[in-house]
Amino acid sequence: LFAIGLCVVMCVSLLAGCGGGKKSVMEKDTIIVGTNAEFPPFEYVDDAGEPDGFDIALIKAVADRMGKKVDVQNMEFDSLVSSIGSKIDLAIAGMTVTPEREQTVLFSNSYYTAVQYVILPKDSEIASYDDLKDKRIGVQMGTTGDFDASDVAGSTVSRYNKGVDAVNDLLNGRLDCVIIDKNPAEAFVSMHSDELTAVDGAQFGFEEEAYAIAMPKVDAELANAINEALDALKSDGTYDGLVQQYIGE
Ligand code: GLN
Repeated sequence: LFAIGLCVVMCVSLLAGCGGGKKSVMEKDTIIVGTNAEFPPFEYVDDAGEPDGFDIALIKAVADRMGKKVDVQNMEFDSLVSSIGSKIDLAIAGMTVTPEREQTVLFSNSYYTAVQYVILPKDSEIASYDDLKDKRIGVQMGTTGDFDASDVAGSTVSRYNKGVDAVNDLLNGRLDCVIIDKNPAEAFVSMHSDELTAVDGAQFGFEEEAYAIAMPKVDAELANAINEALDALKSDGTYDGLVQQYIGE
């Protein structure tokens, strides 16, 4: 019993030591930012092959205010959360705050409000949540659209690394619909407006989602600095300027 007790004490102090000894990202000059540049207008690859978009511009402006540089790493959406604190320092990727993700990461204050949209062929009869039952639904893997689609009774969910690939399979007739966030849905549909339409998920009972920057769970110093920078960019008009430039609302 004593041996077990000793072991527990040692383990606990080891864990505590680990948490306490971890340095804040604020000590670095360059912040490594993870994103998934497949989500226009928030992130996409520009003509020069570099990640660009609202989120990229926003995190650059945030870092600038913090006196930091950024190094943007493009990776799969599904591996962003688990890479925070190892491969990347933080993630900005149109990422919705969810209780599950909050178990692993710390979120900044929200910087944008979104909702899932349902992309449908123009002649589709799907118009309500019940109509989604038993349907073939395409989603981007590990996203809130994936979670919503998986909750639908009898649904067959196809999970893609890129939302655009789901849209292509919808065009090919392999899917009945695609569930994805509002702005990317509109961006993808605008390229195929003869065949597809994007319907507000509120009509299907999907709730509002809040986008935020995901950070290491214990790094309160980083979180404070990021929230302060976001506030400053909102009050000096930079934030609104970026919304105009990238999202156009
Ligand atoms: N907002 C969605 C989520 O967080 C989708 C994000 C994305 O695909 N980049 O799951």
